Amino acid sequence: MTAWNELNLSSEMLTLIENAGYKAPTPVQCQSIPLVMEGLDVLVSSQTGSGKTASFVIPVVERFKGKNGTYILALSPTREIAQQTGAVFEAFGKPLGLRTVVCIGGASIPVEKEALASSPHIIVATPGRLCDHLERGNVWLDFIQCLIFDEADRMLEMGFAKQIDTITEQIPKQRQTLMFSATFAPRVEKLARSVMNDPKEVTIVKSEASTPKIEQRLLWLYEEKKMPALMRLAQDEPGTIIIFAKSKERVYQVWRSLHGKKDDVTYIHSDLTQEQREAAIAEFKSGRYRILVATDVMGRGIDVDDVAHVVNYDVPREAEDYIHRIGRTGRRGKSGHATTFAIPVKDEQGIRAIEKLRGVTSPAERDVRPAPAPAPKFSDRGPRPVSDKQPVKQPAKEPVKKTAAFNPEGPAPKLKLTLKSDMVAPVPEKKSGGFMGWIKKLFS
Ligand code: AMP
Repeated sequence: MTAWNELNLSSEMLTLIENAGYKAPTPVQCQSIPLVMEGLDVLVSSQTGSGKTASFVIPVVERFKGKNGTYILALSPTREIAQQTGAVFEAFGKPLGLRTVVCIGGASIPVEKEALASSPHIIVATPGRLCDHLERGNVWLDFIQCLIFDEADRMLEMGFAKQIDTITEQIPKQRQTLMFSATFAPRVEKLARSVMNDPKEVTIVKSEASTPKIEQRLLWLYEEKKMPALMRLAQDEPGTIIIFAKSKERVYQVWRSLHGKKDDVTYIHSDLTQEQREAAIAEFKSGRYRILVATDVMGRGIDVDDVAHVVNYDVPREAEDYIHRIGRTGRRGKSGHATTFAIPVKDEQGIRAIEKLRGVTSPAERDVRPAPAPAPKFSDRGPRPVSDKQPVKQPAKEPVKKTAAFNPEGPAPKLKLTLKSDMVAPVPEKKSGGFMGWIKKLFS
């Protein structure tokens, strides 16, 4: 196993790494750091939670320390990810004299303008906000020598292709380009071909240490059975839970239904102000709330290590989102659970797309189907969100005590979730081993 002192890093950097508590480099760090230090273009396939942020921050800081001017630009898909990346640059760059400015939607334009005018060494930005500053003439990118695309797949999924073009056109071609992506969808490869110069590829081979131990399960059930199933899961599951829903309205609806019965639930979506979002994440991290309901965009920025269970209340629109969602649990070698609620027929295509993305042969036609769906009960759906979209002020709570039943360091515990048979449509059995076989293959 490679040790930090074998990566040609300065003694100051080794001290900062020690202070951060990073005992040994993760696989993505072992492979990427030497290539980035050489100044090469590097295309990295890595999951969130693999230590990818430090795998570009550490070598980039080492390369550019001591130089004056704005040399480094990191693009992030969401505000939260940009803030986290900015914080990692601060942690490793500031002590070595590199200043970082983070530019994100929702923050004050004049404040960011002033910060940009102070010639920071590093800019971390979301593409939309950076284009805004470019249009206003608040920033020039002529001096950028290192361009980093973090979570490139996500940026493209979010429709930032045009902004990415605008930004890359303004950066000198003679530069280092680093691209990180959890998945290599064709559009990511296309972008890499157009903006990178003969990149070295780093793909982290799955190993016991780097593969998240996520026990996944799929429940075929009709819409009106989702909320009772979720209630049951929330009641039986002792640890923290992130619930992903497909839209802001849906997040709010799920939160309201749960909130009626439980007071340890909060939510996050893009209609909340930046402050409200930060408060929701901070309170979830601190354990004040045990359950967080989120949209895909918001969920991506949540860096919490001990999430016990990810629930896909709705099958994600894009198969790639499935990987990102479940990546919120099973982080850093810990174990976790992921449960996906899928509606028979309606969600089959989405489930197949996930299977395809994971390189698992799609099962043959499913022939076992649940009984026809009864008419949805509106009481299960909860009231539609009205104008009061702000989170209801919730009383301060004691941090949740994680019970011994969930030990993130230990082997995946047996799911406590028990659902009445009439609640769950049978999972079709396949020659290939059915869904459980598929689950086993996912991380084999
Ligand atoms: P990332 O994949 O960049 O989202 O990182 C996930 C988490 O791993 C963050 O909380 C980092 O602080 C942490 N981390 C990164 N590198 C290491 C390391 N070598 N050892 C321990 N923790 C790390």
